[in-house]
Amino acid sequence: MKTLHTRLLIIGGGPGGYVAGIRAGQLGVQTILVEGQALGGTCLNIGCIPSKALIHAAEEFEKARQWNGGQSAMGIQVQAPTIDIGRTVQWKDGIVTRLTGGVGGLLRKNGVQVVKGWATIVDGKTVDVATHEGEAVRIGCEHLLLATGSVPVELAAMPFGGAVISSTEALAPEKLPRRLVVVGAGYIGLELGMAYRKLGVEVAVVEATGRILPAYDEALTRPVMASLKRLGVVLHLGCSVQGLHESDGGSGVRVRSAHADEFALPADRVLVAVGRKPRTEGFGLESLQLDMAGRAVRIDGQCRTSMRNVWAIGDVAGEPMLAHRAMAQGELVAEIVSGKSRRFEPAAIAAVCFTDPEVVVVGLTPDEAQKAGLEYIEASFPLSANGRAMTLEATDGFIRVVARRDNHLIVGWQATGRGVSELATAFSQSMEMGARLEDIGGTIHAHPTLGEAVQEAALRALGHALHI
Ligand code: FAD
Ligand code: NAD
Repeated sequence: MKTLHTRLLIIGGGPGGYVAGIRAGQLGVQTILVEGQALGGTCLNIGCIPSKALIHAAEEFEKARQWNGGQSAMGIQVQAPTIDIGRTVQWKDGIVTRLTGGVGGLLRKNGVQVVKGWATIVDGKTVDVATHEGEAVRIGCEHLLLATGSVPVELAAMPFGGAVISSTEALAPEKLPRRLVVVGAGYIGLELGMAYRKLGVEVAVVEATGRILPAYDEALTRPVMASLKRLGVVLHLGCSVQGLHESDGGSGVRVRSAHADEFALPADRVLVAVGRKPRTEGFGLESLQLDMAGRAVRIDGQCRTSMRNVWAIGDVAGEPMLAHRAMAQGELVAEIVSGKSRRFEPAAIAAVCFTDPEVVVVGLTPDEAQKAGLEYIEASFPLSANGRAMTLEATDGFIRVVARRDNHLIVGWQATGRGVSELATAFSQSMEMGARLEDIGGTIHAHPTLGEAVQEAALRALGHALHI
């Protein structure tokens, strides 16, 4: 067996692992990264990027369909638009290939050795890799970084296979189904469910709780509810799926409502999106007997596990399972291994749901501020009072700020509306820099932009918004 030795060994080339590799390379830390599937991980290959590409294509198609027959208030007319989903998927794959190729190039440029193959942990300093070329390699290391990501949760009553698909298959359809049942009204269920509806598919969503996007407060999800209704997505809230249903009339899903009655929903495809779980099995991780936090590897404020010089970042280390959190942790571990002093203490990690309209949450909501015992003030500014939103036909939604009552320190931002995902940066920066309402209210925001609504929310909290 071929043997290699390195200072840092990374298992997983997703946003956590590849960013750790790039940063370690920049700092001169000898690094090997092992990836069993494709560089870029879930995010670039089967997650963030392909889903946003499909959502964009669906939005464009939906717009064209709305304009068919001269319905556009702007005077745009379109003749019977159609979509070739095969070409849409090819276009999406092109973006993925460019990005994953770029990741490979960046790792090379920074001197990181990439070993393509499946890693099996032998002990905290040794990993065996069955390479794609068929060769077995044993790699010894001083530091082992676990960045193995997560996998979709499967329903016992409806395992993946055949008509039952995960987001991975939903992002690469060979053809569009006529009827799609989505199980779970969380991030994936609503982002992809809405996209499929815009592509012309009949979509029904089954959600166990009584609300869509249960992680967000109701004011934020109200515009999304209205949009689902407008699009004709059928919601079955407070319901659970019992299994597949086959009859002469076709296949479908058996659903039980909150009142315990059962009914069948016809479906050609069933997208199960009921959460993801850390990938901790199938590669010898159990043998390390690390402390766990539920299904995730337990880490401290420096991403250290319970074993010396074994680190974990990203989805394998639990919630929030977001690419930007994985990247930030990857950068941090590389810096610590190189000798720098770092701790993972972000003021907030933005969560963005790319539904129509989009939803952004950074820091504390009013409810959370109250539960934390804070004396707070909150204010919202509606996008209907923002000129740029009018020119973009994006007036549904609002920006909300939450700040301490005593010194006006901003503790949270929330927004819902078309295009508000781009405001997440301003929200995070203001919190990371310890901004007060006066800092945002006193900053000249370019006109006409959605950002002016951010300034106006801060001014409104101070009692002197200008445009309302
Ligand atoms: P991953 O990206 O999962 O990468 C782990 C890598 O490790 C994989 O490539 C895997 O092949 C490899 N690996 C695992 N075990 C081994 C082994 N034993 N040997 C070799 N290689 C191994 N997050 C956002 O922030 N924004 C979004 O818009 C967003 N959209 C999403 C949409 C979808 C449909 C999905 C599924 C997820 C989305 N996410 C989004 C979540 C995001 O993809 C993850 O949080 C992120 O990819 C986690 O990064 P990671 O590096 O921890 O793991
Ligand atoms: P999720 O946790 O966002 O939503 C799962 C939903 O399924 C919840 O509403 C839950 O109540 C519901 N549910 C659970 N069990 C159910 C059952 N048996 N029947 C019906 N409903 C059930 O999970 P997801 O949508 O699968 O996404 C997984 C993770 O991927 C997210 O938590 C997030 O970390 C990441 N992600 C992020 C983005 C983004 O940042 N824009 C996009 C997609 C995915």
